[in-house]
Amino acid sequence: MSPRRAVVIGAGIGGLTAALGLHRRGWRITVLERAATLAPVGAALTLAPNAQRALAVLSLGEEVRRLAAWDGDALLRDPRGRPLARTTSESVITRFGGPLVVLRRSDLIDLIVGRLPEGSIRTGEPAFLADAGGPGRPAKVSTAGEVVYEADLVVCADGVNSTSRRVLFPQHPGPAYGGWTVWRILAPTPPRFVPHETWGGGHVWGSLIRDSEGVFIYACAVTERGGRSADGEKAELRRRFGHWHHPVPALLDSVGEEDILRHDVFHMAQPLERYQSGRAVLLGDAAHAMVPTLGQGANMAIEDSVVLAHHAAPGADLPAALARYDQQRRPRTTALIRRAERASRLMSVRSPAALALRDGAIRAMSKVVPALLLRGFDGVADWHPPVTPQDPRPHDTHVAG
Ligand SMILES: Cc1cc2nc3c(=O)[nH]c(=O)nc-3n(C[C@H](O)[C@H](O)[C@H](O)COP(=O)(O)OP(=O)(O)OC[C@H]3O[C@@H](n4cnc5c(N)ncnc54)[C@H](O)[C@@H]3O)c2cc1C
Repeated sequence: MSPRRAVVIGAGIGGLTAALGLHRRGWRITVLERAATLAPVGAALTLAPNAQRALAVLSLGEEVRRLAAWDGDALLRDPRGRPLARTTSESVITRFGGPLVVLRRSDLIDLIVGRLPEGSIRTGEPAFLADAGGPGRPAKVSTAGEVVYEADLVVCADGVNSTSRRVLFPQHPGPAYGGWTVWRILAPTPPRFVPHETWGGGHVWGSLIRDSEGVFIYACAVTERGGRSADGEKAELRRRFGHWHHPVPALLDSVGEEDILRHDVFHMAQPLERYQSGRAVLLGDAAHAMVPTLGQGANMAIEDSVVLAHHAAPGADLPAALARYDQQRRPRTTALIRRAERASRLMSVRSPAALALRDGAIRAMSKVVPALLLRGFDGVADWHPPVTPQDPRPHDTHVAG
């Protein structure tokens, strides 16, 4: 019997991990990516133990730990540099069974691509879900080059602005502006550097070690959507963050305009009622884009992928498998969209009185509540993937590292 064929639309972290999961289950896969190359947007990614366990199911756990540059010691500060709360790698491991790691997006992409069959990824191919298919009828995907692919399964992993989602659920209003603009920056590591996240009024700055040479920075501000600075983003960041504690000004001084990426953040404020229709499933940001306040968007896309591959095992009844994917992924990811929104509200506080209250409460609680910052990840970072007997054991992630 010839292997079943899956077409994956989009070669972000979600599409690629789904392709790998399905390939390992014996599917013949084709990944269609509209961009000319696989250069990922954004420099680095934090992966919590939940996503690392999922990657371990794909036999990538050890490699991820090897590539990771940072594993969880961090400080939450106010803009003057005063500590609000602290987490340690040990406390993350104790609570969630593994560390939090950061790695380059490009390293993760290279790792996954290296495990996919040669020729399975086609770049420069914008793809369109022409027909979601159904019982006895294949799904169809067309490309700008007018090739039409017929498939037993189509994985729509085409990101927050997914055209596939519009085809499947035309009545859905689409993603909404999440209220934040985010700048992503790579900078050289300054002296005496300690990873930190700093919360001001409606502003957040995070600096994490990306590798031995570089620091990965995310700077976020509550703003109107579509804003751009007439005098450039570096000047904008200096106005907003230039008076913050060391090393924020030094990091800003060390980068050029070309090192700074600016994006408005969109999310699925109105969750979808289904992630599946016919032979097509939505996966990753296409299904459940969330504001990045928990750093879980790509983690969820990776979880989606291993759950999908788990159910779409050889010989499985496909409609039942896709229904189970929907049943397992939708409640979890919808809840996380909401949790990320709640964190966003806490970070968005702007009035001096509310800020004093928030920061005072965090400072006081962190003295009496152990691992205060980690509690927001309860039920998230402790997730375990479904495992079939031939899969590697997912709790290998930490032990191997
Ligand atoms: C500032 C910031 C920081 C973040 N940090 C983290 C973090 O630390 N940890 C974390 O887990 N998440 C993080 N996220 C979220 C994470 O980036 C996303 O959730 C994740 O990248 C989604 O992956 P995806 O594959 O679903 O979508 P995408 O990465 O958007 O990939 C979609 C792909 O589909 C392609 N595509 C689109 N349309 C078509 C088409 N018609 N045909 C073919 N291809 C198409 C696109 O070119 C793209 O390559 C962050 C997000 C932001 C904004």
